[in-house]
Amino acid sequence: MRRRRDDIQLKTPDQIRSMRRAGLVVAAGLAAMTDAAKPGVSTYELDQVARRVLAEAGAASSFLGYSGPPPFPGVICSSRNANVVHGIPSRDDVLADGDLISLDFGAIVDGWHGDAAVTVAVGAVSTDALALSDACRTALWDGIAAAQAGGRLTDISHAVQTSVQSSGPFGIVTGYGGHGIGTAMHMDPHILNHGKPGRGPQLVAGMALAIEPMITLGSAHTHQLPDNWTVETVDGSLAAHWEHTVAVLSDGLWVLTAEDGGRAELAARGVPISALAD
Ligand code: MG
Repeated sequence: MRRRRDDIQLKTPDQIRSMRRAGLVVAAGLAAMTDAAKPGVSTYELDQVARRVLAEAGAASSFLGYSGPPPFPGVICSSRNANVVHGIPSRDDVLADGDLISLDFGAIVDGWHGDAAVTVAVGAVSTDALALSDACRTALWDGIAAAQAGGRLTDISHAVQTSVQSSGPFGIVTGYGGHGIGTAMHMDPHILNHGKPGRGPQLVAGMALAIEPMITLGSAHTHQLPDNWTVETVDGSLAAHWEHTVAVLSDGLWVLTAEDGGRAELAARGVPISALAD
């Protein structure tokens, strides 16, 4: 199936600025949850941290009540160890020393969405687990760096895959991927985390994309738990997941969910940050 550029929502600079406000709420929530993610803390408590950040900002949740059945009950997805994505926060899900947990958070400001995820090491984690999370985070930024106006959609996919493979023998989860984002959280196009470059729609100024690699220490195969949400590796291997929302602009990129707009990581890759970020 070929998706045309016409299917992808294009934003004006003012609309991108609104998305930045949503992105900063997401960044604040993820930072607060990262600080709070200690052994003995439940994922329900992390969800409460995120709810407070939304309330203080006057923002709405992108996740609460999403889709289903059953409608998603949290404002975050919390996916611990072998859980890859879409884990449901719960009082019974308590962090332990050595856990790796993906925290995924979305916010709506003035009708515009931001979506990002981090993987947090709880206490002292194994060297392998740290390498997994680092490789996933690096692949995210390498994918973002490939999202430049004039390129094509699968330049991102290829950059993510190449980056992961250069870091180690990790599994790349293929059943899930990134997405367009704007007046809804999940919009066209779907963004694979693997594939050949130079395919799919051309990237043009005004697009906003959520890029989100998911990788594992073992098999890339996953299944969904009976809760109809949680995605888990079939072999029980550890997973990592990192995500940012990035705006494609004519003079560079603006990573809307990064506190610094992406300035440091883009500079490290020789990619300009848009003047809109100033
Ligand atoms: Mg997403």
